[in-house]
Amino acid sequence: MTVQIIRTIKELRLAIAAYRADNAKTTVGYVPTMGYLHEGHASLLRQSKSENSVTILSIFVNPLQFGPQEDLDKYPRDEQRDTSIAEQAGVDIVFMPSVQEMYPSSMLTNISVAEVTAGLCGFSRPGHFDGVATVIAKLFNIIRPDRAYFGLKDAQQVAVVTQMVHDLNIPVEIVPCPIVREVDGLALSSRNVYLQEQERQQALILNQSLMQVSSYIQAGLTTEQLIDKLKESIGQKPLANIDYVEIVAYPSMTMIDPKQILKGQNSSILVAVAVKFGKTRLIDNVLVNFSEAGE
Ligand code: AMP
Repeated sequence: MTVQIIRTIKELRLAIAAYRADNAKTTVGYVPTMGYLHEGHASLLRQSKSENSVTILSIFVNPLQFGPQEDLDKYPRDEQRDTSIAEQAGVDIVFMPSVQEMYPSSMLTNISVAEVTAGLCGFSRPGHFDGVATVIAKLFNIIRPDRAYFGLKDAQQVAVVTQMVHDLNIPVEIVPCPIVREVDGLALSSRNVYLQEQERQQALILNQSLMQVSSYIQAGLTTEQLIDKLKESIGQKPLANIDYVEIVAYPSMTMIDPKQILKGQNSSILVAVAVKFGKTRLIDNVLVNFSEAGE
């Protein structure tokens, strides 16, 4: 069956209801995106496809999650290409609402998740995660998926959405999916198209630096020393302008000393970076588990 393109909430609800009426065992997998799809998005779609009878992709560049100085207007878009990638991945429905459809009147309701949003992108992009949580809550209410797939490329976003779903008893399973990278290690991102050639070359330092993290932890570096090491390594690239390098417990996103993990707490640490190359802000991260760190 070819992919169904739907632009209104009403039609989407009818289409999903039809699937559910047709088969009581229907499970709906959902992948929210801002479009300009790449292999990272496709991996989420394929995972949803393999675990659910129906897969829905949404493409919506959500104004609520962009700051006034950010790239909302020039965010890359390509509906045709996105549709064909969705089709190849076996998506059943692509939901592409307009801003007017999603926000017909000004929003008087805001969902704000505390604590997990205190640092990292929550700190450097004020209001960003309110916008994310609010639109995701709306989309969850519209679609009512059984499972929703999110990339760990945006690890803090996974933590925020997981917390929101828990706090508000939203009946959906959040499925975190691994980061997909280019062969040379650059994490795939719709924003990579903005990068000039030299910027793209120098951006490889993000993954290269993050790959050293496990060995630094095993060598016994403290959080501060580890952050310094990463800043030094990334800072060697003249075009890199560091926004943040942070280390937090995951998924609580609380401050932590990596040594505490090694002493036996059964959790993960997230080492996350945000770095600007020219006008393009890239994020990347690595999750280190206690066992991986070798103790
Ligand atoms: P976006 O379109 O940037 O909002 O991303 C939509 C979803 O795709 C989010 O859950 C992202 O975390 C995920 N995603 C984006 N890039 C990647 C990647 N390189 N690997 C895995 N997931 C990704």
